[in-house]
Amino acid sequence: MKYCVGADIGGTTIKLGIIDEEGALISKWEIPTRKGENGLLFMKDIADEIRKAFAEKDDISMEEDVLGVGIGIPGPVLPDGYVEVCVNLDVKDIYPAKLLSDLLGGMPAKVANDANVAALGEMWQGAGKGHDSICMVTLGTGVGGGIVNEGRIVPGTHGAGGELGHMRVVDDEPEQCNCGGHGCLEQYASATGIVRVAKRMMASCSDESRMREIEDLSAKDVCDLAKDGDELALRSLSYSMDKLAFILSHIALATDPQVFVIGGGVSRAGTFLTDMISEALGRYQSIIKADKYDVALATLGNNAGIYGAAKLMFPD
Ligand SMILES: [Zn+2]
Repeated sequence: MKYCVGADIGGTTIKLGIIDEEGALISKWEIPTRKGENGLLFMKDIADEIRKAFAEKDDISMEEDVLGVGIGIPGPVLPDGYVEVCVNLDVKDIYPAKLLSDLLGGMPAKVANDANVAALGEMWQGAGKGHDSICMVTLGTGVGGGIVNEGRIVPGTHGAGGELGHMRVVDDEPEQCNCGGHGCLEQYASATGIVRVAKRMMASCSDESRMREIEDLSAKDVCDLAKDGDELALRSLSYSMDKLAFILSHIALATDPQVFVIGGGVSRAGTFLTDMISEALGRYQSIIKADKYDVALATLGNNAGIYGAAKLMFPD
């Protein structure tokens, strides 16, 4: 049996996992992200953790049984593994995979963007299992996107491949997105975006809604009330998901994936949400019949990144 390590590096914690060639997660753990020295500190921590983990496993030889380490990074990664800048990790101008490989005595390593890696993980062992072309959208604080085409991540020339969250869906948005743009999908369909849309709708009409009684409205509140038949909440959530579906309809006609996978905190709203997206997706494009594609809920949760990072190292 062969094994790979997946390291999903986030701004506050690093998730690590050992996965076997059949896709079983045999151990996982987390360490804090120790920033500083342009990434050298947390890279050293990762190398130490990997050595320690295999030293404790009598049945696995790190030299003979481990194919390598895959890394997910919360920022743009160029096809050759170059990271120009990653604000969340306080690093710039580095080759993370080369760095980690050197720290591990030449063990093979690869790096990719975290949203892309999560998409690869869902394709391999999650909602996309059995498929090789998927598009994944993570609806959290922001909107993350990843496209896997025929088993390979589409990183793009500038590391911007699959950045669905910053595709423009509204022309006259006065507020600025985190990226500096205006009218990005993220401003309407992320957890924060869903709340923003709901508040705007409440301010623009006097329709009754139970949303008005909630002091610190959350995306979950909007989803729950929409499910419960609150009309304004439903209208507001439909607007948000409509914007998402609009973008997915373009992806459908660009890379034409087998399945769209919806993940992140907002996806806990379940099939209510995916049905809404699926219906709107059918409205926005007429080439692919609605029963030919699938809008599915992500199934790996926070482990998607570990799975996908490890998958970078397994042969196809
Ligand atoms: Zn943006």
